[in-house]
Amino acid sequence: MTLKGSLEELAEPVDGRISGSTQLLGLIGDPVAHSLSPAMHNAALAAMGENYCYVPFPVAPKHLAAAVAGLAAIGVRGFNVTIPHKQAILPLLDQIESRAAAVGAVNTVYPLPEGGWAGTNTDIDGFVQPLLGLEKGIPTLILGSGGAARAAIQGCLELGLGPVRVAGRSPNPLLALRQTWPQVETVNWAELNCYLSQTRLLVNTTPVGMHKPGSPGGQGLSPLSREQLGLLSPGAIVYDLIYVPDPTPLLRMAAELGHTPISGLEMLVQQGAKALSLWLGGKPVPVEVMRQAAQHQLAQV
Ligand code: NAP
Repeated sequence: MTLKGSLEELAEPVDGRISGSTQLLGLIGDPVAHSLSPAMHNAALAAMGENYCYVPFPVAPKHLAAAVAGLAAIGVRGFNVTIPHKQAILPLLDQIESRAAAVGAVNTVYPLPEGGWAGTNTDIDGFVQPLLGLEKGIPTLILGSGGAARAAIQGCLELGLGPVRVAGRSPNPLLALRQTWPQVETVNWAELNCYLSQTRLLVNTTPVGMHKPGSPGGQGLSPLSREQLGLLSPGAIVYDLIYVPDPTPLLRMAAELGHTPISGLEMLVQQGAKALSLWLGGKPVPVEVMRQAAQHQLAQV
C-alpha cells in the first residue's frame, strides 16, 4: 500500500476529504486531547481511501448515557472508549462480547445490524499481538491489578501462558481477579522478588514510569529496580504497557540487562488496527501507517 501524502497530511482530516457521504468514527473519554488514536486512524483511513473521519469527543461522566445515545442517533459507525468510561459504558450497551465481560471493560463499540451498540475489548488483541508465537507455558508475572492488568491476564490465558501471577499492593482488586480467573495466582507486592527468577515474561500494567505533563517529578521512575530486573530469568521478555516516554526507564534497564523489551506503543497500535478492521467489516488495515502516525504524534509530546 502506498501513502497518498505525508504523515502530517494523512493524520489530520482536511476539508477536501470531508464530503456529504463521509461517515464518522470516534473516541469518547475525559480527557481525549492527548490521544494518539485520531492521528493513527485518520492516517490509516486516508491511506485506504476510505471516506470516514475519526473524531475525539470529550465526554464528562455525567453525560455518558446521553453521548452514547447521541452517537447512535447521528449514525456514528463505531467508536473507541477510554478512561474513565471503559467500565461505566457496559450497562449502556445492548451486547457485550464474553471476553470483554470477563475483563469488565469495553474499549471498542460497533453498531448491531438490528440497531443498538455492541461492545468488545481490542486491548486484549492489542496486548496479545506482540506475543504471538511464544511457546505455551511461559511463567508470567503481571505488575498491577487494575483495568489494563485484567486485559493482560485475559490475553495471557488465551495464549496459554502460565503460571500467570499478578503482583499488586491492594488486596481487593487481587481478590476480584481470583474470582474471575481462579487459575491466576496473586502475589503481595512486597513478596514479588520471590517470583522474579522464575519469570520469563514480565508485564508492567502500573502507571509507574509514565510521563505526566507538568509533573516532571514522576519521570525516571520504574516499578522495579535494576537489581530486581537482574533477578529475572535470563533473556526474559519485559513488556511495559506505558509508551510515554518510549522507551520507559523499565524498558531501558531491561534492554541493558539483555532482556527483550516490548513497548506499550505496539499494544496501542494493534488495538487500534483491530478496532478499525472491525468497523470496516473485517478489511485489512495498514498497521505500519498507524504505527508511523502514532510514533510521529508521540514525537511531538
Ligand atoms: P488502573 O486501573 O488505575 O490500575 C493501575 C494499577 O497500578 C493498580 O493496580 C494500582 O494499584 C497499580 N499501581 C499504581 N501505582 C503503583 C505503585 N506506585 N506501585 C505499585 N502499583 C501501583 O490503570 P489502568 O487502566 O490499568 O492503566 C495502567 C497503565 O497501563 C497506564 O499507564 C496506562 O496508560 C497503560 N495502558 C496502556 C495501554 C496500551 O495500549 N499500551 C492500554 C491500557 C492501559 P492500587 O490499586 O494499589 O492503586
